[in-house]
Parts: sequence; C-alpha cells; structure tokens
Amino acid sequence: MSAYRVLIAEFKHESNTFIKEATSFKDYKKRHLIYGDEIIPFFSGTKTEIGGFIDAAQKEGISLIPSIAADATPGGRVDREVFDHVRDTIVRAIKENEPIDGILLTLHGAMVLEDSPDGEGELLESIRQLTGYDLPIMITLDLHANITEKMRFNVNGMFPYDHYPHVDMYERGVEAATNLFQMLRGELKPLIKIKKLPVLNPCMESGKPPHKLFLDMALRWEENPQVISVSIVSGFPYADIPEATMTVIAQTNNQAELALQISEEIGQAIIERRTDFVKSTVPLEQGIKDAMEAPEGPVIIADISDNTGAGMPGDGTHVLRKMMEMNVKDAALALITDNETVEKAIEAGIGAAIKVSLGGKVIPEDLGSPIEATGIVRTITDGKFINKGPMGNGIKNDIGPTAVIDFDGIEVIVSSSRIQPYDPEVFRRMGIEPLDKKIIVVKSIAHYRAAYTPLAKKIIEVDAPGPCPQNLKLLKLENIRRPVFPLDEI
Ligand SMILES: [Zn+2]
Repeated sequence: MSAYRVLIAEFKHESNTFIKEATSFKDYKKRHLIYGDEIIPFFSGTKTEIGGFIDAAQKEGISLIPSIAADATPGGRVDREVFDHVRDTIVRAIKENEPIDGILLTLHGAMVLEDSPDGEGELLESIRQLTGYDLPIMITLDLHANITEKMRFNVNGMFPYDHYPHVDMYERGVEAATNLFQMLRGELKPLIKIKKLPVLNPCMESGKPPHKLFLDMALRWEENPQVISVSIVSGFPYADIPEATMTVIAQTNNQAELALQISEEIGQAIIERRTDFVKSTVPLEQGIKDAMEAPEGPVIIADISDNTGAGMPGDGTHVLRKMMEMNVKDAALALITDNETVEKAIEAGIGAAIKVSLGGKVIPEDLGSPIEATGIVRTITDGKFINKGPMGNGIKNDIGPTAVIDFDGIEVIVSSSRIQPYDPEVFRRMGIEPLDKKIIVVKSIAHYRAAYTPLAKKIIEVDAPGPCPQNLKLLKLENIRRPVFPLDEI
C-alpha cells in the first residue's frame, strides 16, 4: 500500500466583470464554504471533481488531506478578503501537513479579483512559492476558463471539462488524480503546451458544431499513448481581461514536438472556422409565439440573457412580462430571485392572492423593471433539492425559502437566492412536473440542455435585452488582447 499523501482543495469562481457588486463571503456561504473533515462526506458519491478525487484515491490507496472547498454562483469580481482567506487556508494546510507528496485543486479558471485579472494564476503562484517546483500539482478547470501563462507555469497538469453542458466534472477529477498518482510513481513526466487563440466564444455547446469538430479532433489525439490529454477551452468573454479567449491545451508525456504539433493543428483549424463561433437566437416575441403554437409540450424557452450561470442576477423580467402580455397559459418559469416577494408569499400563505412587485430590482435598466401583478401562492418550500440529472448529479442545492406564484396560468418559481436552474428537480421540488407543462422557461444559456433535452419536444433560445449578449460585438470589452475575432478581422 502506498503511503502517498495528497492535499486537495476547491476554490472556484466565474467572474463577470460587467457586474458591479463584488462576490463576498456571503455568496460563498450560500453555495458552500467548508473546511477539513467536512469535505469528504460532502462530496462522496457526487459526480463532481472532488467526488472523482475521492474515488481515484480510494482505488489506489492514497490518503487525501482535505483543506477547503469554496464555490459561489458566478457574479462580480471576487472580494480580496475572500481570496486571501482561501489562499491562506490552503497555504497553512500545506505547512501543517508536511510532508505531502502532491496537490490536487479544483478551480474554475475565470476568477477575476477586485485588483487582479488572474485569480487562479495568483493562487497557484503563491502555492508554488511555498512548495517549490518539484512537488506535483494538478488542477481541474471549467471549460469556460481563461487560461493564462501564469497558470500553466505553476502546475504539472490542467484538466478542463471537455463538455458544455458540464457533464464530465467527475471524469476530469478522476483523470487529474490518476495522472497525479502516476507522476508520483515516476511513470509520467507531463509537458503542457497552451495555444491562445484570437477568437472569442459566446458560450457555445460542445456537442454541436463548431465546437464538436474540434473536440472530436482532441479526442482522436488522446488515443495516442504519448498524449495525456487535449482540451478545447472556450474561455469566458464576460470577464473583461486580456486572456478571455479560446485556448487549446495539449499535454504529453514529455514530448514537446508532439504537444506543439497538436496545439498548432487544432488552433489553426479553429481560427479558420472562426466565423462559425457567432451565435444566432430567436427574437423574444417570435420565440414565445412559436412555443404557444407548437403541437405539443413541453417546449423549453431558454432565457439566455439573464443566465445566473454567467453572473446575471436572475431577477430579469423581460420574458415573463412578454408572456403575460401574450396571455400564455400552462407554463412554468424557473426562476426569479427575489427575497422580498418570497417573504410576502410566506406571510400570505398557500392559496392566498398577493399583489407583488416581482423581480427587476438589481439592474432594471438592463433586465427589465419589476412586474406589478397579482398572483396566487401555490407552493412554499425550504428550497433544498438534490440534482438528479447528468450534470453535477448528487449536488445538494439550497436556494433558501422558495415560493411558486401563479399568474393566471404562468407558475413562477421565486427563490431567496440565485441558481442556474439546469436540473429539473428545481421544478419538482416545488410541485411542478415539467412534463405536464406546455411551456417551461429556464434562465440558462446551455447547461439546461443536459437534463431538459430528453424531456423537451422543442427548445427555443430567445433573445431578450440584457448585459450578457450572445452577440459579443455588443459587449463593451476594453481589456481583451487585440486583435480578436469578432471585434476585429484577423
Ligand atoms: Zn462553465
């Protein structure tokens, strides 16, 4: 039995720099901010990266030293105080548990701090300064990571998700851990090559062209025994930093030429097909009309402009207002985050008619003003549910006290805190069976597709106004490295 001791930690955030309010301790506590012995029981059996670390370590008899796990819903830049706290907790755990043989971190890759554009780079650099360059460090990342040279320089392996929706969190966790263990045994000498591409990607799915073509190329290269992994990283353009572009990562077993060849080949192919990375959507009124006229339901309407997954407040009202105007029936919407309205619903109780001023409180100038209407309170719950779909299966969610308010045939889930409703359990927890509805609205760009595609008769992505546009020319990017497509011709 090996006596290897590997420290693990999670520190994630996808920062949308167009949101003014910083992401604070409060936001981390809402998702999770847990320490030491709390971590293994929390993630055991979940289809997450740490779930993967745990299973891989157990299989190989390696002991894990859990230090901290911190994750918050995407939002504004991360508060310096939070960053310093998490970094210091990891650094302290490394010192207190010496000797350790390696480190596994699960990060996002698009963390922007109040005073620094590269949160992960700064974190990894601090860890390296303490451990030196001989200690193996491997990380998992989101597909929407903004890869920097500082990140690459300070790790021995990077394993971003291959898929969007992110259905392979667990697999990437297992992969990072397995490769780290091989490195510890001297069986692997990883070499990383990154190629930054002058192309912005408006969060397009991985299972469809154009992304699928390049993912398939990457997977074919992975069949080569000298190749550790090849990743097509979309980047996150809503973080206005120089490196928010697409990246190809090629990792080989100490084969520099091969890594260069792979990253150049796929990188060039993406640049040639760059015009395919421009997304088209359906105008709002047309989309709702199409859904109403569809012969059978459920038809999924994706409100991609108020996607909390990209840091939006989740209280936008454009889609709901238009549905009310068009007199839509037999519909349900997930969800509008509005604490005040939830409190009002709880006070009134189930069955009561209440007059509300719903949503539109955070950035009404962009996402629509509050909806003044009377609805009937149908359901009230504690907002706790467990994901049952393919993405993040087993994750425990807590969106706080939550109510369903029925506006003449449109049942709206109103929550106390934000979530991207990519798992249909959010409806079922509230007593709504999505299959029974003609129209289901979700505030999500693409993650919803993993679980809703099998349920849906049709999916319509509507284009409502908002600060998170799919047309990236509308985004006021000031810091991105130029030239970059589609802002410039390249
Ligand atoms: Zn992502």
